Parts: sequence; C-alpha cells; structure tokens
Amino acid sequence: MNVKKGIAILGSTGSIGTQALEVIGAYPDIFDLQVITAHSNADLLIEQAIKHLPNAVVIGDETLYEKVKQSLWDYDITVYSGEAALSQVVEFHEIHTVLTALVGYAGLKPTLAAIRAKKTIALANKETLVCAGELVTKLARENGVNIYPVDSEHSAIFQCLVGEFHNKIEKIYLTASGGPFRGWSTEQLKTVTLAQALKHPNWAMGAKITIDSATMMNKGLEVIEAKWLFSLKAEQIDVIVHPQSIVHSLVQFEDGSMKAQMGLPDMKLPIQFALTYPDRLKTDFPRFNFMDYPQLTFEKADKETFKNLDLAYKAMEMEGTAACILNAANEVAVDAFLNEKISFLDIARINEETLNNCISIQKPEYEDFVESDRQAREFAKSLV
Ligand code: NDP
Ligand code: MG
Repeated sequence: MNVKKGIAILGSTGSIGTQALEVIGAYPDIFDLQVITAHSNADLLIEQAIKHLPNAVVIGDETLYEKVKQSLWDYDITVYSGEAALSQVVEFHEIHTVLTALVGYAGLKPTLAAIRAKKTIALANKETLVCAGELVTKLARENGVNIYPVDSEHSAIFQCLVGEFHNKIEKIYLTASGGPFRGWSTEQLKTVTLAQALKHPNWAMGAKITIDSATMMNKGLEVIEAKWLFSLKAEQIDVIVHPQSIVHSLVQFEDGSMKAQMGLPDMKLPIQFALTYPDRLKTDFPRFNFMDYPQLTFEKADKETFKNLDLAYKAMEMEGTAACILNAANEVAVDAFLNEKISFLDIARINEETLNNCISIQKPEYEDFVESDRQAREFAKSLV
C-alpha cells in the first residue's frame, strides 16, 4: 500500500493556500492534509478545517483561539494559536512537505523550523528567500532538504531544468507581465489609485503581491529568489516583459539552447508540481489554445520608471542583509499604500531611501536578519 504524502499548508486561507487545498482535495489517495494555518481569517480557517479534516490548525491571532476551538470542538482537530505555534506544527512527524503560502517576512522563522525538521519545502513565500536566502539554502543543504518552487517563473525554470541538473546554466530570463501600468510614464503614475493598482491583468492574487506586481517589486523579489534557488549570479538573471503571461520563464544553457515552459496563467499547476515532483498528475485544468494567442510579445522592462527592479539588483550587489532591508521597507510601504496613507510612487521612494540609509550587516547570522528587518521597518515607517 502506498503511503500518502503528509502536507502542511502555512497560510491556507490566502490565494495560494486556497488553490493548494483544491489541488490536495482532488487527490485524496495521494495527499494527506496534516496542518492548515491562518493569521486572522478564523471563519475561513474553520470552514476549511471542517471540509478537509486536518489533524491540526493554527490561528495566528491569539484572540481568535477560543472561537476556532469552540467551532471545531466536535472534530478530532487540535487547535493552536500564536506565532510560535507555526514553527512547532511544521515539525510533526506525519508531515512530509510544508507549503509556505503565508505572506512576507513572517514566513522566515517557520520555514527555518521546517528545514531543521527535514521537511521538504514547497516555497511560495518568496520573501523568505529574499530576506535570508543564503541562510535558508545553506541550512537546506546541511539538512538534505529540497526546496521546490511554487512561484510560476521559478517553477518554469525548475521544469526546464528537469533532466538537465548536470548542465550549467548560462542565463535565465524571468518573464514579467508588466502589471496594470505597463507603458505608463512617471507623470501618469502620480494619478494611480488603490483600486487601479489592485487590478492585475492576468493573475488573481493576494493584495500584497498584486501591489508588488504593479510596482515591479515582485519581479525584483523574484530575481533575488532565483539567485538563491538556482545558485546564480545577478548578471545571469534577466527580466523580460511578456504581457500575455504564457511563457512563464526561460533557461539558456551553455550551448546557447533555450528552454521555456508555457501554459495558461494558473497557479494550481506550479503548486501541484511542487507537491508531486518528479511526477506529473493528470488534471482537468483548461488547456492552452494557440489560436487564442496568435501573438506572443516581448519587450524590455522599464527600469527608469519602475525603480524597484533596479533596487533589487542593487540590494544583491550590497550583499549582507541589504535584501532583507529592502524587503522590510517594501512590506511597510505596501501596507501604507493599501491603507491609503501614501501614493503609488511613494512605495519606490521609501524602498530606495530605506535601502540607502539602513546599514547592511555583512556575513549575517539569523539575529542579524531580525535586527535589519526591525531597523528597516522603523526607518520606513518614519518615511510614511
Ligand atoms: P494572501 O494575502 O492571499 O494570503 C496570505 C496567507 O498568509 C493567508 O492565509 C494569511 O492569513 C496568512 N498570513 C498573513 N500574514 C500572516 C502572518 N503575519 N503570519 C502568519 N500568517 C499570515 O497571499 P498570497 O496567497 O497571494 O501569497 C502568499 C505568498 O505566495 C506570498 O509570499 C506571495 O509572494 C507568494 N506568491 C503568490 C502568488 C499568487 O498567485 N497569489 C504567486 C506567486 C507567489 P489570513 O487569511 O488569516 O490573513
Ligand atoms: Mg511569480
């Protein structure tokens, strides 16, 4: 008899989390849901728990513990709460793979705990690698842990590399949709409203990554994510704007050959591949039809107008905790923009000023990332 794969989803109530539950729910003979977690959306967490019957749930906000506990009283589901619980539940013996689908720096600690517990990581939470990629990948190597990417671009690169792991990568191209403001001038960007920024042309995602896509910070974060996932130098990573989001990214090998991975924009596919690698399972996801896309187009990224992309390259050059500083500034700035405290262009301004003013700690240990994150948040908040 086959043993089912035990899965924990950190951030099950989000965009990636809910799609992951669909994937897992479609293969009850393959997956065994062990743990799901939410930050404050107790109602959805309870609904998901009753439907999917995991062994345990975590609600981050401790004031909601009693509510979740009462609602799941009749079920054989253990309820935990608080930030520390996230790092404990990932260690459960029955868990094989931890899908990190929570948003932001909050993902770092539980991801490190999961790696120490030798769990396979399906990584959606790119901020973890952006902040502490060196630390995370080193710990994964030491523990013999694989990190499989969920981010569509990185999944595309990974899919292109299957069967090619012994071959050197010359270069990769990460594709970018360009977001809702592709082609806009700085003058036009001064007028951007929150509602406009929240409307992504090709993908329905959580609020933070949707804003990151509009400012191009998302692609900057993805460049850093790719550096650590595939052990690349900054100059080996290029970004190309591809508004149709059909070619999900490309690898160029040393003989000049390029491989791309294509398909309709649907996160369920990369989520599933990260959970089932090296196998591909049959799905009924909609198929791509060439006649719907007679033209696939590519253009240069506008780094002058969308400064965040350059800031990411600059942070990589600065090394140390610079990317952690940039990420913290961006989390503060995006939150302020979502709460309509700053304008769209202020996001890149705050990111740039914070990166320039906070000191990047070289050869960082875990505590240095915590300290840089704290300092950068404080500085960025003073700019809001
Ligand atoms: P969402 O905002 O939709 O969901 C975030 C999830 O994390 C929710 O379950 C939320 O709980 C939980 N959460 C939020 N803050 C915290 C916290 N401080 N501590 C613990 N849990 C928290 O995000 P997405 O699903 O869009 O994105 C998740 C990650 O995946 C991000 O890192 C993003 O960059 C990445 N990603 C997302 C893609 C997408 O298509 N959405 C594509 C590629 C990457 P609650 O609901 O209770 O607030
Ligand atoms: Mg992506």
